[in-house]
Amino acid sequence: MDKKKIFIYANGTPSSRRTERKLLAKLDKSGHTIANSFSGEVDLMVVIGGDGTFLQAIHNYDFPQVPIIGINTGHLGFFQEIMPSQLDEFIFNFEQGKYSIQKLTTVKMRLVENDKEHIHIGLNEVAIKGNSTHSIHLNISIGGSFIERFSGDGLLIATPAGSTAYNYSLGGSIVDPRLNILQVTPIAPMNTTAYRAFTSSILLPSGLSLGVVPDMKDKDSALRIIYDGNYKVYEHVSEIEVTFSDKEIHLLRFENYDFWNKVKTKFL
Ligand code: NAP
Ligand code: MN
Repeated sequence: MDKKKIFIYANGTPSSRRTERKLLAKLDKSGHTIANSFSGEVDLMVVIGGDGTFLQAIHNYDFPQVPIIGINTGHLGFFQEIMPSQLDEFIFNFEQGKYSIQKLTTVKMRLVENDKEHIHIGLNEVAIKGNSTHSIHLNISIGGSFIERFSGDGLLIATPAGSTAYNYSLGGSIVDPRLNILQVTPIAPMNTTAYRAFTSSILLPSGLSLGVVPDMKDKDSALRIIYDGNYKVYEHVSEIEVTFSDKEIHLLRFENYDFWNKVKTKFL
């Protein structure tokens, strides 16, 4: 059996620290090397925490392409594959190659502010919201064709992996990650004689882009751009384009992994 180089990323909670210490001892005993810092050379990245920690790790290391496994010491743990009680089982299956790789697609937002381009990537989602208490108005196009002037709190664009997160709270659909789609979900859309906006989610195939041109009065025109657990405020956005990103995350999943079983145990 060849020895592997493994990088561990853990949040600071007592149970994560405990799990990290245990894992370090077990990996060391099995003859594997622990990397002190992340590089593309590592064979595996282990994330100890919840989904929030997982997202943090992905962003900190700029969407690493190496295989990743999550150990759940957090609350929900949708990305996390194993529990702290399964460390021996995990090391055995990993050494034996008894796992599959689940590929997760990501979403990319390209935004222009004062002729300067900014890019934000999300594993769960990117979202556009106002930065004031007022509603926002966005001219929306799909594949270059104008669709409507959206009015409401904003728009969220979720990946299949993110469909069970914020998207689901907004009434969006749960999407099997084997489907290559982006889901555009409205956030509190207004439907009155003054404003009309679509009220259900829209599904886009890869290759089609969502175009957004803000259409708001200057004093309220700042937008809050959300990407996973992070945000940035832009004052003068002239255009936004949302597409699939070419970055994919590779999650280790073991024999009994089943997306719908996970949905059942975490949601229903
Ligand atoms: P958070 O506010 O602590 O996360 C809210 C919950 O979302 C946590 O229970 C988290 O799981 C869970 N979660 C994250 N990704 C998920 C996924 N792909 N499927 C199912 N549940 C998921 O913030 P956070 O921990 O930094 O996570 C950021 C994410 O929170 C954002 O990407 C967004 O999707 C979500 N969020 C949801 C709402 C909402 O539902 N109203 C509002 C804001 C943000 P853990 O407990 O394991 O961390
Ligand atoms: Mn969290």
